[in-house]
Amino acid sequence: MEKSPDYDVVIAGGGPAGSTAAYLLAGFGYRVALLEKQRYPRNKVCGGCLSQKSVRFLDRVFHLPLPALRQEGLIDSTGNGYALYIESRRVLAGALAEPFYFTRRERYDACLARKAAEAGAEVHEGVAVTAINHARRTVTTSDGDRYAARVIIGADGIHSRVRRSFPVAAVDPEEWKRNLGWALELTIPRREVEALATGDGAIPLCNDLATPHLVFAACRWGYGWVFPNREEIIVGIGGLLRKNRKDFPGQFAEFLKAIGLGAFADLKPAGYPLPFGNYIPAPAHEATLLVGDAGGFASPILGEGIFYAHRTAELAAHAVDRHLTTGAPPGETYIALLNRRLIPELEAEAALRNLIYRCLDNRMHLPLMAFMKATNSRVIDAVQGSRSFRGFRRDDDLHTAIW
Ligand SMILES: Cc1cc2nc3c(=O)[nH]c(=O)nc-3n(C[C@H](O)[C@H](O)[C@H](O)COP(=O)(O)OP(=O)(O)OC[C@H]3O[C@@H](n4cnc5c(N)ncnc54)[C@H](O)[C@@H]3O)c2cc1C
Repeated sequence: MEKSPDYDVVIAGGGPAGSTAAYLLAGFGYRVALLEKQRYPRNKVCGGCLSQKSVRFLDRVFHLPLPALRQEGLIDSTGNGYALYIESRRVLAGALAEPFYFTRRERYDACLARKAAEAGAEVHEGVAVTAINHARRTVTTSDGDRYAARVIIGADGIHSRVRRSFPVAAVDPEEWKRNLGWALELTIPRREVEALATGDGAIPLCNDLATPHLVFAACRWGYGWVFPNREEIIVGIGGLLRKNRKDFPGQFAEFLKAIGLGAFADLKPAGYPLPFGNYIPAPAHEATLLVGDAGGFASPILGEGIFYAHRTAELAAHAVDRHLTTGAPPGETYIALLNRRLIPELEAEAALRNLIYRCLDNRMHLPLMAFMKATNSRVIDAVQGSRSFRGFRRDDDLHTAIW
């Protein structure tokens, strides 16, 4: 049955991207339907690491400063230091000027969807988008309903049904696959880690298991991570799919051994694709826009995607607002905003990524270590969002300006 009256905007997917778009557009006064195929609280395979640029976004856009994030239970733990390895060699370690935070996605995503509902969006849970008619601007759902809208936003994650409805000319499948990542991740209760860690791995984890560890070359064109949560330790590897293929399980077992957690090598990690530099340069077709993982937006070096989900959704929401107020084509405005505010940054980060991984491929570890030591604090600032990856210049507007 066609839902009537029509919506201004229908959003497929209620992760960080979808909830951001819904929250902003409902706040602008539009009639918004957010369709989420699962029910909250729902989990998402993720390390849950929030850089400062994400934390600042939550404050600026959702009016959730750090104390409010804590109050909402969104900050599970804090990483005040870090350790970075190439294979088993410690290259950098120390205290961070500003911490990384770790969240639990089931809480994070449920909270942001609730915020969208409080702003006035209709949040429909347990409703999957099954088909999109771009010309008619309608989506059909798993329960047979059809929603008509003036704009459709695809925020339905890496497997996006909305993206798959785009013509090949808009989303080149070969390009998409070229920079598609894959990750394996295991969440292990802290008490089990404490009981079974052997401490004899080549990479010694600190005693209190409080320091985030990154290990380059744990897989090809990717890295391994150990992230501390309050009750759990999250261990993962992620890298370019085409460079690793079937090697991931073996590399993951090796990584567990290297960090002294070989006792957990029999456990089956969760496997999940992740964008790794495969963003779609023009993620719009007719009046449908792709945001977040659906458009491949994530850090090409780290695969950090939560911030990019928020930020692309923010840019899309402003493009939609302009469309609904002036008639300007939403896709053109969105692509212009991405080109102005985000894609140059992703390109610069991808160039750095290529340099790092080419050095690793060619075992140029010594020059790479020298480079990492020389640029360390600036790269951390760029990841945290206070510097640009373009020349590492300071830029306070980098992740906040819209027009
Ligand atoms: C192993 C791993 C570790 C990661 N670690 C980090 C990290 O530490 N920090 C970080 O910033 N990023 C991390 N990422 C990336 C991050 O998880 C994603 O970039 C982020 O979740 C993207 O948000 P999103 O809203 O675009 O998509 P998602 O979070 O995937 O949300 C999409 C939503 O759409 C819904 N959906 C799907 N299909 C439909 C449909 N047909 N109809 C309706 N709803 C639908 C899904 O149920 C889901 O709720 C990691 C990724 C992986 C795989």
